[in-house]
Amino acid sequence: MNKYPDLKATRHTSQDEGLIFEKSSPGKAAWKLPPLDVPEVDSKELLGSSARKDLGNMPEVSEIEIIRHFTRLSTWNYAIDLGMYPLGSCTMKYNPRVNEAVVRMEGLANAHPYQPEKISQGALRIMKALSECLVEITGMDAITLQPAAGAQGEMTGLLMVRAYHESKGAARKKVLIPDSAHGTNPATAATVGYAVENLKSNANGMVDIASLEAQMNEDVAALMLTNPNTLGVFEQEIHKIADLMHAKGGLLYMDGANMNALVGKVRPGDFGVDVMHLNLHKTFSTPHGGGGPGSGPVAIKKILEPFLPTPIVIEKQDGTLGLEYNSPKSVGRVRAFYGNFGMFVRALAYILANGPDGLRQTTEDAVLNANYIRKGLQGTFDLPYSTPSMHEVVFSDKIQAKKGVKTMDLAKRLIDYGFHPYTTAFPLIVPGALMIEPTESEGRDELDLFIEAMKRIAAEVEEDPQTVLGAPYTTRVSRLDETTAARKPILRWKPAS
Ligand SMILES: *Cc1c(COP(=O)(O)O)cnc(C)c1O
Repeated sequence: MNKYPDLKATRHTSQDEGLIFEKSSPGKAAWKLPPLDVPEVDSKELLGSSARKDLGNMPEVSEIEIIRHFTRLSTWNYAIDLGMYPLGSCTMKYNPRVNEAVVRMEGLANAHPYQPEKISQGALRIMKALSECLVEITGMDAITLQPAAGAQGEMTGLLMVRAYHESKGAARKKVLIPDSAHGTNPATAATVGYAVENLKSNANGMVDIASLEAQMNEDVAALMLTNPNTLGVFEQEIHKIADLMHAKGGLLYMDGANMNALVGKVRPGDFGVDVMHLNLHKTFSTPHGGGGPGSGPVAIKKILEPFLPTPIVIEKQDGTLGLEYNSPKSVGRVRAFYGNFGMFVRALAYILANGPDGLRQTTEDAVLNANYIRKGLQGTFDLPYSTPSMHEVVFSDKIQAKKGVKTMDLAKRLIDYGFHPYTTAFPLIVPGALMIEPTESEGRDELDLFIEAMKRIAAEVEEDPQTVLGAPYTTRVSRLDETTAARKPILRWKPAS
């Protein structure tokens, strides 16, 4: 086997190719303008002190050089448009191009949030239609589309939970969170001012009912539960969990980031959930990651409706749509304007393009794909929980760790095989987790390639662990100091002095 699968540096990936600044030479340009045929105006006269005196060290290059520069940069990134993105919990599915065609339609792309309601009827209809679809899919009673991400949805949901308890004259202090939870859950609860109490999982990776019974009391505002949870396991006792919460006046919050495993099959509103968020950028195929806008709508049961953020889209007497700002018990606004409108358009396009049967098929394919990988890699990697998998499967590095190779090393080596890494650092209850979520987007060929790559890496660990420990070899930079990369990122090229 080739130790360095693609190490042969081509001019397209080589870092020696030179940065655009180093290619610069005075007078070179990527443009040519016709001679001026109007009177010349002094830029100072037009712009005053904001007028530039010089080009400020901007590179001077030809058109082909600038095109190659940006095209080359684009190839240094991995993308869902290049291959599978098995990041567990992130649900990195394909973003259908039809969504992009729809969202770029002139009337939608150019709509302005300050436009009067009278000429925003189409945009309001989209928000209303999406709200109705999501309410139907979740089995809840009402929804806000405002939050800009899952984590902000969690915050919005818990603000409503807090307002609900306060309206009953009882400011409860605690939120229960299973030890398998996504890190945003405890962070959110703390942000909203709750004390977080950890809830143990049992040997099957589900909420331990006895612990919940022991810990639930009148001081607990809510349980924040992800279902299926981050092990990819469905909480089989969900009805009992909901009953236990409700019996003591608590609410059940569901982190709905994993709805890709449920859509069209079961509805959280039917199994006792009072409030939940959705990640449109996961379940409903809107673009994801890279700091782009997300969307984390929060769906609720009737009891929480008075507390919804404002404005709320309403139907007026004359049949037109409008925005209602007057809602005295509302938790207020959580996001500028109405949320990330482009995400709403894409999500609605996705929902309508698939229809109920298509969405159900999506769920079934996502679960099938995860189980295909589970079968393919079982035995090669340790499977800490044998409970049936839903949309993702979590292995551990227990077998490979005996040779000194950890999940992070395996993930780095996977890059050399042409795949984005899976999720490595989480769930925390699985030390050395390999959290894999293929989504429904992948066909069997891609899944087989992935399984083959993982098996070859496992074989390398047995024969030559050093190769794996030194990976990746094919990327422009190899292992980064991740802390420094996050805390002190180098975002700008500076000339060597
Ligand atoms: C992604 C995710 C979140 C957070 O969503 P963001 O949109 O990234 O803020 C919360 N919980 C779970 C289980 C997730 O997978």
